[in-house]
Formats: sequence, C-alpha cells, structure tokens
Amino acid sequence: MAWIDDQLVARGIRDTRVLDAMRRVPRHEFVEHETQGLAYADRALPIGDGQTISQPYMVAAMTEALRLHGRERVLDVGTGSGYQAAILAELAREVVTIERRPELADAARKRLDSLGYRNVRVLVGDGSVGYVDDAPYDGILVAAASPRVPESLKHQLADGGRLVIPVGPPDQQRLTIVCRDGDRFVESVHEGCVFVPLVGAEGWPE
Ligand code: SAM
Repeated sequence: MAWIDDQLVARGIRDTRVLDAMRRVPRHEFVEHETQGLAYADRALPIGDGQTISQPYMVAAMTEALRLHGRERVLDVGTGSGYQAAILAELAREVVTIERRPELADAARKRLDSLGYRNVRVLVGDGSVGYVDDAPYDGILVAAASPRVPESLKHQLADGGRLVIPVGPPDQQRLTIVCRDGDRFVESVHEGCVFVPLVGAEGWPE
C-alpha cells in the first residue's frame, strides 16, 4: 500500500503493529459516501455535524505515542466515525470510546459492530472528564483540542499509563503526552496539529 509508505513511514511512523493496523482497517468504511474516493488521501475529511475524521498520519502518530502491546484497556475520547477506535481495537485488549454527539456515536457503534469489532464499547457523554466507571486506563487518546490537559483524564491513567491530547487555542495546538509515574505526571509537548474543539466541563465551553 503506497499511502502507508508515503504518508506514514516517510514521516517517521516506525511501530510495525501500528502500520499493520493502519493497513488492515478499511478507512473507506468510516467516511461519507461522497468522500469515499478520498478515504486514503493525506487529509482530514468531513463526517457530518461539522466534525472530521483525522488525517491518517495524525491517527498513526497519536496511536504510536500510546505504545500499546496488546493487553491494555484504552479510553478514546471523541469517537467521531469510529475509525480511531477501530485502530485501537486492533492493538489493545479493550477500547472504551466516548462521543458527545449521540448521532455520531450511534453511527459509529453500528459501523464497528458490522465490521466485527467486539472489544469496543461506544458511549455517549462528555469525555473531557473521562469515564471514571472503567478507569484506570493504560492509554487515553483524545481526538479533539483542549485548552489544557484535563485533570480528570490524568487521574484516570493507570500507573505507567500514557495520555495523548492536542492542547492549545482553537486554530493551532501541540500534541501533548502525559505519562503517569506513581503520583507524578510527566508532560512533554510535541508536533503542531489542528483539531476540532473538545467541548465539555474540562474542555471548551459550548
Ligand atoms: N476519532 C474520530 C474518528 O476516528 O473519526 C475523529 C474525532 S473528531 C476530530 C472529534 C470528535 O470529538 C467529534 O466527533 C466531536 O463531536 C467529539 N467531541 C468533542 N468534544 C467532546 C467531548 N467532550 N466528549 C466526547 N466527544 C467530544
């Protein structure tokens, strides 16, 4: 698959499990009918309700940052189309994904179910405060932009767990990784990115 080499390997994605998952998951099943021809293009695409499915490279980079080995429980905030959740489901034991827009969550649930993903649960709610019922998580991935790292998400990480989240103003953010080490949270700031806003109690106001 040329797009894997051109968009992912050429930009530094090295984790072979992530590359294999990106090869396996049929991205064209997660985009709208009118944009299916662009499903593997190097860009984000509209998925309705003013929301987007992230660019393939960004999905791969954020997934790789979680360093999954296969036994983890992962929280995915901002289900959208369900594509990111499917990638995570290929790489972890259990995925809980949460979306604030019920229509998007319903469509994603049906899509993931019809594709045979049995280790993903799609919930409706405000993921800016995480989902405490199933915490702690070995990995938390937030696919929407937050003004700061939500405290609730940090505290729902397992010891050794990793959180990846775009942090910054609406027009430009930086991917931020938080690693939990006991009671310490070690934060590092990485590449620039642009995501739709995380709207909720620990994100942006509505
Ligand atoms: N990961 C998605 C995919 O693979 O298609 C793309 C996510 S899209 C860039 C961001 C999503 O976050 C939108 O669907 C939006 O409705 C959702 N969102 C925004 N704020 C949220 C919140 N507080 N809790 C849950 N979802 C939220």
